Parts: sequence; C-alpha cells; structure tokens
Amino acid sequence: MARRRRVYEGKAKVLYEGPEPGTLVQYFKDDATAFNNQKKAIITGKGVLNNRISEYLMLRLGEIGIPTHFIRRLNMREQLIREVEIIPIEVVVRNYAAGSLAKRFGLEEGSLLPRSIVEYYYKSDELGDPMVTEEHITAFGWATYQDIDEMLNLALRINDFLSGLFTGVGLRLVDFKVEFGRLWDEEDMRIVLADELSPDNMRLWDARTGERFDKDRFRLDLGNVQEGYAEIARRLGILPEAGVRDLRRSESLQ
Ligand code: UDP
Repeated sequence: MARRRRVYEGKAKVLYEGPEPGTLVQYFKDDATAFNNQKKAIITGKGVLNNRISEYLMLRLGEIGIPTHFIRRLNMREQLIREVEIIPIEVVVRNYAAGSLAKRFGLEEGSLLPRSIVEYYYKSDELGDPMVTEEHITAFGWATYQDIDEMLNLALRINDFLSGLFTGVGLRLVDFKVEFGRLWDEEDMRIVLADELSPDNMRLWDARTGERFDKDRFRLDLGNVQEGYAEIARRLGILPEAGVRDLRRSESLQ
C-alpha cells in the first residue's frame, strides 16, 4: 500500500492517487461507523463485499446511461475511479418509511410512502449532516439550481432502476443515499454519480419477510452484519468466488 500517495481517508474508504492524472484508487475498508461516528466497529470482509456490490451497481447504472465515476475494479478491495469534485450534498431517496424519516414523522417502519421522497443533507461530520433545502444549497453556493435539478433527475432514475433490479432478486429498496461529483472535460462540466453504492448506504429488506440485510444490522445490533451483505451479493449473483469464509484473508489478496 506504500506505493501510492494517500489523497483522502474517510470513514469507510481511502482514496489514493491513481496511475494517470484525473484518476484515483478507491480502497474499501472494513470499518463501520454509525450515529455520526459514535458507534464504531470492524466488520471483517465488508470492504470486499462493498467493492464488489458497488462495482456491479455502478456498471449496471452505466449501461442505462447514468454517468458514474467508476472505471474498473482493480482487486478485492480497490477500484479505479475518475477524480471528481464532490458536491457536498447527500441525496437521499426514500420509497418506504424507515430510520430518521419514520422517527421524524411518527411513521411505521416499512410503510409505503405516497411517492418517492428526495431529501438533501449537507455533508459535514462536525455538524452531523444537517438536512437542507434548495435554498441553503444555492444560497451557500454548494450547488446551483441547475446542479440540483440534474442530481434530482439522476437520483430518481437511479431509484427506478435499482428498485426494479432489487425486486427481481426478492429485495425491497427501502431507501438509499447517493453523492455526486463534478467532472470537467475541457470547458464542459458533467455531474456524475460518485462515492459508492453499497449496503452501507441503502436499506434492503427481504421482499417477503422484511428481514434486513443492510447496515441496520450494525446500527441496531441485529448481528451477522457480514452475512447480510453477503446475502445481497449472493442474490445479485456476485458473491466473490472465495466465499464468505475466505474474506477474512482478503486483506492481503490482490
Ligand atoms: N445514509 C447514509 N449516510 C448518512 C445518512 C444516511 O448512507 O450519513 C443512508 C442510510 O443508509 C439510509 C438512507 O440514507 O439508507 C436514509 O437514512 P436516514 O436518514 O434514515 O438515516 P439513519 O437513520 O440511517 O441515520
């Protein structure tokens, strides 16, 4: 790992300088955090599963014309991505009530929302990611109305596609969070899907039983977190060949 310069370290990922200008290597760690960093743990094999799941979902989205930062997976824990300027807004799309929405409005967890609801949060650990409106986003210069429009359209297309994809494998996409980045091509600026798409950022329940397979297993101390992520990968048909047992050793694998 010493061969590359570290550009940024987040809670679940590290970014290294890429092999060519304008590229980065995104490394997936096993670290899990919740409740604004108050709860922490290592979930063995999580990074390997998230790398694989995120690769798969970004590729599928790319095929339907959603621009993403993803270039290719390099190994068990790393993927090559385009360097983008991250827009400091977390875009959350919800189909069913859960988590903070259920709490805020006193809704029963799992109840179907009248329509998909999109929310924006300002990315700031110090402030605990406060919810913001278009007013805050544009007034503070985080993004323009045009950027917001683009992010909203992309988020809704992503939601439609992923909802169908997961329904096909018996999973219900309850909600998810996405981040976008600006990518410059000469004078042209494009907004592309960035960060990751994994069970760390989405709620996925069994469509029949309501069993949770995502990060709520960690947040709510439900246990078997890695097994939940592996079940999602298994249903998508992408469980790493090594299988779950061998994920423990994967740190050293290239
Ligand atoms: N989410 C995320 N990062 C955050 C906050 C939320 O990826 O910092 C995801 C979360 O996994 C869920 C969706 O966004 O799929 C909605 O989360 P919610 O607002 O309910 O927050 P939570 O109660 O999960 O903290």
